[in-house]
Amino acid sequence: MLRKDDQRPGERLTLNQGLLEGVRQCPSPNQDRRPSGVVVDLLVIHNISLPPGEFGGPWIDDLFTNRLDPLGHPYFRDIKDLKVSSHLLIRRSGEIVQYVPFHRRAWHAGRSAFRGRCDCNDFSIGIELEGVDDLAFEDVQYRALMRVTRLLMEHYPGITPQRITGHSDIAPGRKTDPGPAFDWRRYHGLLAGDAPKGSSDTQPA
Ligand SMILES: [Zn+2]
Repeated sequence: MLRKDDQRPGERLTLNQGLLEGVRQCPSPNQDRRPSGVVVDLLVIHNISLPPGEFGGPWIDDLFTNRLDPLGHPYFRDIKDLKVSSHLLIRRSGEIVQYVPFHRRAWHAGRSAFRGRCDCNDFSIGIELEGVDDLAFEDVQYRALMRVTRLLMEHYPGITPQRITGHSDIAPGRKTDPGPAFDWRRYHGLLAGDAPKGSSDTQPA
């Protein structure tokens, strides 16, 4: 299987028909049309790890494609019937995996509301970071997230820095991700372009 762990940080991401070119595509059946007329104007950041706290296995792909083996781990029995997905996963290695085209509705947010507006799946894009709430995310994950976010902001101008949120913010009391270990200041700083000197991410495209 083609892995893109080695994508160069300066390499420009491109979108084609809702799909990121050059990243691994793992289409999820857990998607459908967005309601007609809806404008995509929210980005939701999540974290996920399967089994919880373990990284690198194939089980996130399996969960998002409804192929999770309930015998694989005791925890999988509880979640095997979930019908969930996200648009993207950014693994600890920085690899990006896409499950749902951006113009389609992924099933990542569940019962949720952003500034009083319910059902965030309708109008949002969901990105999962492989991780847990209380362990620092990897540098390559921040860089990959920044590159994807910039591209999405170009294509979906309704997504502004003020309209990037965490799952815990749109489903308080129910969800805790991306958790306190996710460094929002750093992320917003990268988006604004004030990355440390020497980072290729600061070079103009
Ligand atoms: Zn989440």
